[in-house]
Amino acid sequence: MAVTTARHVPLLPLYHGARIPQLGLGTWELDGRDCERAVGRALELGYRHVDTAEAYGNEEAIGRAVAASGVGREEVFITSKVWRDHLRHEDVLSACRGSLRRLGTRYLDLYLVHWPDSSISLQSTITAMDELLAAGSIRAWGVSNFTIPHLEEALELGRPSVDQVELHPRFRQEELDRFCFRNGIGLIAYSPLGHGNVPGDPEIEAIGRPHGKSAAQVALRWSIQKGHVVIPKASGEEHLESNLEVFDFELSEDEMARADALDRGERLLEPGFAEFDR
Ligand code: NAP
Repeated sequence: MAVTTARHVPLLPLYHGARIPQLGLGTWELDGRDCERAVGRALELGYRHVDTAEAYGNEEAIGRAVAASGVGREEVFITSKVWRDHLRHEDVLSACRGSLRRLGTRYLDLYLVHWPDSSISLQSTITAMDELLAAGSIRAWGVSNFTIPHLEEALELGRPSVDQVELHPRFRQEELDRFCFRNGIGLIAYSPLGHGNVPGDPEIEAIGRPHGKSAAQVALRWSIQKGHVVIPKASGEEHLESNLEVFDFELSEDEMARADALDRGERLLEPGFAEFDR
């Protein structure tokens, strides 16, 4: 069985058995025709992993792009996420049905709890995830924006395949990274380009110069070498293409340490309902 996708993107095993391409396309803030075009072009270029969410409002566009691409459904890894208003048992089941319908697919490769909400029983959410798994509607489930205490609570009830969190050289989440590694939970780095801040970062640019690589490529490579999955969002041809060109060079130990040292410990994304202080 292949261990990489066509463009040499490694496939990492997940706890629930599915295998996730280590690099995927983020689609937050991509809508309608722009989304369809970006996803269609990404699939042509060799992307085989697309990250979406019911809250992004673009699942139908992604479904159309996948259907039109000529790439078989089994070859594309699709992640969606259940919004925090839908975390009760019956709501999770119906939110998943909605995502499947909009994406035009019989199953999701990965289904995530988009944000924790401690006022709702995590047990009822996880029971629903396990039912979806048993029914074949999803191939793996995980969480997003969970802190270590959230993960400790989740682990009492079941094992999430992944935690998808903000992670880039300016916010490296070292403690959470170590916790996930110890507990066999994969880490998906969202906003791996610092929501667009990384590409102009002179210190990250300097690390890439001897390799002939951009700051964006260095940040993606840095995360990949740490074993994370990365999901940069890109809309134009140039960004889509260059974000895939991160499997033909390696950062040295010293370069990894220089990137590690850039951590400021400051989040970019912290909506009012986040529970990062938990
Ligand atoms: P990001 O991927 O860190 O950065 C995207 C920005 O970087 C866009 O402005 C993009 O511009 C630009 N860009 C992309 N490639 C570039 C390159 N090679 N050189 C220069 N600029 C480049 O930001 P993000 O969208 O916040 O995060 C990525 C994905 O993570 C999201 O799309 C979403 O799927 C996921 N996410 C999940 C959560 C969650 O709560 N679970 C939260 C945030 C994000 P163009 O569009 O012009 O190419």
